[in-house]
Amino acid sequence: MADIFVVVEHRQGEVREISLQALWKANELSKKMSAPITAVIMGGKDESFVNEIASRADKVLLFENDSLRNFTPDLYVGILQSLIQEHRPLITLVGHTPWGMDLGPSLSVRTGYPVATDCVDVLVDNGKPKAIRQVYSGKLFQKVSFKDSEGYLITLRAGAFPSERAGEYKGEVIRKDIPAGLPEARRQFVGFEESSAGGVDITQAELLVSVGRGICEQENVAVVQELADLMGGVLSCSRPVVDKNWLPKAHQVGTSGKSVKPKVYFALGISGAFQHVAGITGAGTIIAVNKDKKAPIFRVAHYGVVDDLFKVVEALKGKLKK
Ligand SMILES: Cc1cc2nc3c(=O)[nH]c(=O)nc-3n(C[C@H](O)[C@H](O)[C@H](O)COP(=O)(O)OP(=O)(O)OC[C@H]3O[C@@H](n4cnc5c(N)ncnc54)[C@H](O)[C@@H]3O)c2cc1C
Repeated sequence: MADIFVVVEHRQGEVREISLQALWKANELSKKMSAPITAVIMGGKDESFVNEIASRADKVLLFENDSLRNFTPDLYVGILQSLIQEHRPLITLVGHTPWGMDLGPSLSVRTGYPVATDCVDVLVDNGKPKAIRQVYSGKLFQKVSFKDSEGYLITLRAGAFPSERAGEYKGEVIRKDIPAGLPEARRQFVGFEESSAGGVDITQAELLVSVGRGICEQENVAVVQELADLMGGVLSCSRPVVDKNWLPKAHQVGTSGKSVKPKVYFALGISGAFQHVAGITGAGTIIAVNKDKKAPIFRVAHYGVVDDLFKVVEALKGKLKK
């Protein structure tokens, strides 16, 4: 059986969580399809995460060159196109990130393989993949069948799968040269700048303290931020909080925000609209505080408190400060 390729994404010398999630999914597909996992790393010299990736794949194809240290789409597409034409992988998984949004469609055009983007799951049906995507703002799930092809390209949504190591692998690391004759890159990496949100990445947080419209006023954001700090958590929110400019967009959970997978999700004054809940399907324990006992958030919460959120916040702060 042909391989399952996983394109390993990295930034500033660190592997991105989405690639670990893609490898987790690749492990599951590999078992169902009896297809080995090949991780493809295009990076600078001596990237520190190569061994970590090798412990999650049957094989690592490693392209080491200073010109590959940062994402250079033209070069990366050229390398992947040549690899796909050489190895004919059955499935190629990439994160649905700026990398994947660039690589997925470009590779589809160049290889003729069909692509499904922003997928939250991949099923196997009669030996062929079927992709699951969310449509209508997460209200419905869509099962995507591909036209018959030798290989399929799939970009995966961040947070849709766990990041844990799923199998026992000791992948052989095979060093490869950049293929000769690639066209000159039209886009160059200029520099890396942290986002203005102070580098907040709610998709990586283990504890999220999340606020909704129920906090009523902007100044109450600081009240809950203090609780999040005391708990060692990160502040996230529902969309209305962003729409009102009380918190930057990087904090928003949901279909038009981020999918998150904290161990604990603490929802304060959030009603539980499906667009919000779709973003917390990967959360471990969900605890909700809402003064309306019929709020839909209680349908997905593992623990619920029907009360004024400010009473709960102050009580918790009092305990934590002791
Ligand atoms: C295309 C589209 C995309 C969207 N994407 C997203 C998205 O990504 N993320 C998202 O969150 N939403 C999204 N939405 C909006 C979504 O439909 C809801 O409107 C939104 O999630 C509601 O946010 P909320 O729960 O904070 O506010 P509300 O629905 O107004 O709920 C506020 C809750 O706070 C409770 N409350 C009020 N005061 C208190 C108090 N003192 N103590 C305790 N509880 C209190 C109320 O009982 C209520 O349940 C999207 C909508 C559309 C159309």
